[in-house]
Amino acid sequence: MNIHEYQAKETLKKYGVAIQEGITADTPDQAVEAAKALTEQTGTQWWVVKAQIHAGGRGKGGGVKLAKSIDDVKEVSSQILGMQLVTPQTGPEGKKVHKVLIAQDVYYPGESEPAEFYMSVLLNRNTGRNMLMYSTEGGMDIEEVAEKTPHLIFKEEIDPKVGLQGFQARKVAFNLGLSGKAFKEMVKFVMALYKAYEETDSALFEINPVLKTSDDKIIAVDAKVNLDDNALYRHKDLANMRDINEEDPTEVEAGEANLNYVKLDGNVGCMVNGAGLAMATMDMIKLSGGEPANFLDVGGTANAQTVEAGFRIILKDPNVKAILINVFGGIVRCDRVAQGVVDAYKNIGNIDIPIIVRLQGTNAEEAAKLIQESGLKVTSAILLKDAAAKVKEALA
Ligand code: GDP
Ligand code: MN
Repeated sequence: MNIHEYQAKETLKKYGVAIQEGITADTPDQAVEAAKALTEQTGTQWWVVKAQIHAGGRGKGGGVKLAKSIDDVKEVSSQILGMQLVTPQTGPEGKKVHKVLIAQDVYYPGESEPAEFYMSVLLNRNTGRNMLMYSTEGGMDIEEVAEKTPHLIFKEEIDPKVGLQGFQARKVAFNLGLSGKAFKEMVKFVMALYKAYEETDSALFEINPVLKTSDDKIIAVDAKVNLDDNALYRHKDLANMRDINEEDPTEVEAGEANLNYVKLDGNVGCMVNGAGLAMATMDMIKLSGGEPANFLDVGGTANAQTVEAGFRIILKDPNVKAILINVFGGIVRCDRVAQGVVDAYKNIGNIDIPIIVRLQGTNAEEAAKLIQESGLKVTSAILLKDAAAKVKEALA
């Protein structure tokens, strides 16, 4: 689960990570109040208005703007609130902005130049260990840094037995070219950031940029956090940060029906039990000349209701030209799934696209019979290769 920048910053602050302070607003008037309150709290003379959506690259799309007066705050917030913000990460349709964060300006002039770094904490799946990834090249697209100047990205692995050690945090500060007060602040920043990542059971903490201010403070200016869904049950406060506005509505509906659904761009809808079989089925669809329209795992306990819910969700996608149902009857009985398909077909009505059902395993024969006798435009296949051939036929 992803959370907003302002929520990620709140979380960081709780763990002692220094942040660019801010107050959220849902209307331009609230933005003005927020800016005034922030100046009382921090003394800031300028403010940054930041769109709160679940996507990065907001600056490039016009979703992060500096305001140099209270009038500016009002003007800029009215532009950003309600806009359809398009960034390199949102897709061409963009995302609607419902909330802005009014943040203190932290790029003020002083003794030294402000400097932007990149830092993230994530799991290195190759070694099974958490790692810190960081770079002197902050503020910009890290994928581009990785491609063009990979030697400017550093990695520090953490031993799970002892956790992040002080010498490692000092190495980070050293590699970032810091000294004096900034060095000490960076060590504190890194230790606190790692603690936040670990104790929230997160999958990713990405701070881009980490800013060294002109008076040598180290603070998080941006924050992207991805929480591990499987650990949310033990973090009620974090689970409450969910913003359904930011999620694909069909995926939300699927979640409510206990279906594991991911929307894709193809033309063959598929409904499968088990994630592994679902992946194999998607490969098979491609081999028979189609493109999967979705990933849908109905789980090990598919029944008539889940099958119907899955059908309704797949049919919402206008690109779907055929549906392939591929279910292995292990615990689940094929005839029950077949009955579910027949019922769904009748209940939903007006389904005029070909449906290919492959039911293999317990009671497969009964299932095939049920489908044949239903008189519906459903084709049944027992072998995977027959199912593939029928998908091909359906698309021709
Ligand atoms: P992103 O574009 O979604 O990654 O949003 P960020 O929070 O990273 O902000 C984008 C950019 O806005 C940063 O890289 C900074 O260059 C700029 N920015 C953020 N905060 C401030 C600020 O306090 N003052 C100024 N002048 N610029 C800022
Ligand atoms: Mn950023």
